[in-house]
Amino acid sequence: MHSCYLQILVNVHLFSKEGGFDFVLPENMACPPPGKFVIVPWARSWKLGVVLKAQPESQLQADRIRSVSGVVEDWPALPQAVLKLASFAADYYHANVGEVLLSSVPEFLSRSSNFSVKHNIASYLKGKRKNTFLAQQQLPSSSPAVLTPSQTQVLSWLRQQQSFAVGLLWGVTGSGKTEVYLQAVAAALTQGKTALLLVPEIALTEGLAAQVRARFPQEQVATMSSNIAPGARAAAWLATLKGQARIVVGTRSAVFAPLDNLGLVIVDEEHDASYKQQEGARIHARDLAVMRGRISNCQVLLGSATPSLESWANAQAGRYTLLRMPTRAHVNAVLPHIELINTKVAASVQGLSEPLAHALKIRLERKEQSLVFINRRGFAPVLCCEACGWIADCNNCSAHFALHRASTRKGYKLICHHCSAQQAVAQACPVCGNKDLLPKGQGTQKLEEKLAQLLPNAKIARMDRDSTRRRGASKAILAAMESGLIDILTGTQMIAKGHDFENLTLVGVLGSDSLLMSPDFRAEERLFALLMQVAGRAGRAERPGQVLIETRLPRHPLFRELLAQDYEASAKRLLVERENLGLPPYTSLAVIRAQASSDSAAQGFLTQAQLLASEELQNPHCSTSPGIRLYHPRPMAVPRVANQARWQLLIEGRSRLVLQNFLQAWLLKLRELKTAKVRWHMDVDPLEI
Ligand SMILES: [Zn+2]
Ligand SMILES: [Zn+2]
Repeated sequence: MHSCYLQILVNVHLFSKEGGFDFVLPENMACPPPGKFVIVPWARSWKLGVVLKAQPESQLQADRIRSVSGVVEDWPALPQAVLKLASFAADYYHANVGEVLLSSVPEFLSRSSNFSVKHNIASYLKGKRKNTFLAQQQLPSSSPAVLTPSQTQVLSWLRQQQSFAVGLLWGVTGSGKTEVYLQAVAAALTQGKTALLLVPEIALTEGLAAQVRARFPQEQVATMSSNIAPGARAAAWLATLKGQARIVVGTRSAVFAPLDNLGLVIVDEEHDASYKQQEGARIHARDLAVMRGRISNCQVLLGSATPSLESWANAQAGRYTLLRMPTRAHVNAVLPHIELINTKVAASVQGLSEPLAHALKIRLERKEQSLVFINRRGFAPVLCCEACGWIADCNNCSAHFALHRASTRKGYKLICHHCSAQQAVAQACPVCGNKDLLPKGQGTQKLEEKLAQLLPNAKIARMDRDSTRRRGASKAILAAMESGLIDILTGTQMIAKGHDFENLTLVGVLGSDSLLMSPDFRAEERLFALLMQVAGRAGRAERPGQVLIETRLPRHPLFRELLAQDYEASAKRLLVERENLGLPPYTSLAVIRAQASSDSAAQGFLTQAQLLASEELQNPHCSTSPGIRLYHPRPMAVPRVANQARWQLLIEGRSRLVLQNFLQAWLLKLRELKTAKVRWHMDVDPLEI
């Protein structure tokens, strides 16, 4: 009788801190295949694990071998495609495979505090039989719409593909991308396959899922995003694993959804920065979605009105197929009319430019809805003393405090947007004693207040991170907007995405110049996408839409392209710039970020890292050196957060392959450095440098 040893993923700590373990299976148990879930004893409790590999013997010492408590028999194994994707992601992003994969398994099923996994699973099997995730918002069932010629073309392209292919669905706002998604999903289901739909934001998950449910009332649709109640999340995930739910709608971690027999992957708003994870394993879900399509040999649709420059370049190079939808789907809808308001010359009313204030008034009289966008939450970004120039700064960060109205609506408080520290507002300037402290600039709260003074009869609502903290809050605001209970909705990026209000005819944009001035190399690409998206909220149905953008820089080329709503011109200009500067997509980047209590520790670590890299590059066996460029360590844009000094080191590779080969060799050495006082991580394809 020979034993079966298993390599099992339990959690990230298992491999990163304590080294590896192997697990032995009791002799009477059959050896489970990779992907099978098992229960292993862990710190006086149990944990859920996934079998990675089964082998007849173990290379480890006896004290590194534990026994398995049981196999979760009634769960199918994770699909092989998911295991493959996780292992690809772990290699590419230089992350731990456990961190990558197990973060997509609902915590409800794997947590060990208070309850054991066994208990959780047992209680799930007993009590949670009814599909809690089905008790969601229900729309009346919908049937396929009559297609526009361009929608038909996209769907027939999809039908023609027999294997892996990526289509970049470039459709203007309101062109009917969702209808294409729904009919593409229908085609996949007809072939007996499953479908995965990714959206960038939690708030969009439920909206799209409701539309999917309305179209496929006979199907179980699983939604996966972090705001869903733990039990419902676990139920949705299990229904997917068991093949009961054939459609998954979710945010980035849903790219690892346990769908078997995948026939279609859709990434909506593929340009959106939220697809990149900014902590833990820094995966990019859009890129992994393409890889998932490759592994499952199925079609991938990347949808956007303003594709990322990476995807655009891929389409230009013929790696992706460009699928255009240049007109709005609604018969009478035209693209909104965009105008700039030069705030250097325009008169102002209550801090709003006169033309915008006037336009808002007219909409109110006509009983039409308006949206006013500003990219800053809180009351004001800065509180200062006009007498001596003192500014309220966070003690822990190299950043100003933002002024917020207290939730009770009485008084104000200071909040740091970097470390979340809070402080009462001083009665007088701590330097000169001046009692007139002045808020500078404006955020959503101040804007809301000003709008209320300007239009006292208007029903005004605000949607930002502060007003939507409670579960269901954003849904309630959107529902009120939908049913006409709100005249003017003001807010941050949250209001820019995906929503479709028939009676909305005016969009105002404030404070976009600060985004244009950002040192980030993606600033213009992002601003163009954001403004097109927010502008796209206006006039989606019968009535024409108007968009008014306040700026002090009306001559900037980006605004010229925006007025013409010419994405192609913008992409072309920005890609030339990127090529000249040697930036992605023409090169591949990685960054190491280090933080420590002192600058010298963080910088010192990166200097050592730089030295190791130079050695590696001079190594005659290192074949990649000509294609690698190494920069000097420098402080990050906000050099200190929560009393930690933050530095970064940028590495540029001629191509992804060259960069990956180099990173692999370098990281082996880097991980041996003593770094007790420094926390660091690697970010491949960083969004910000
Ligand atoms: Zn002062
Ligand atoms: Zn702070």
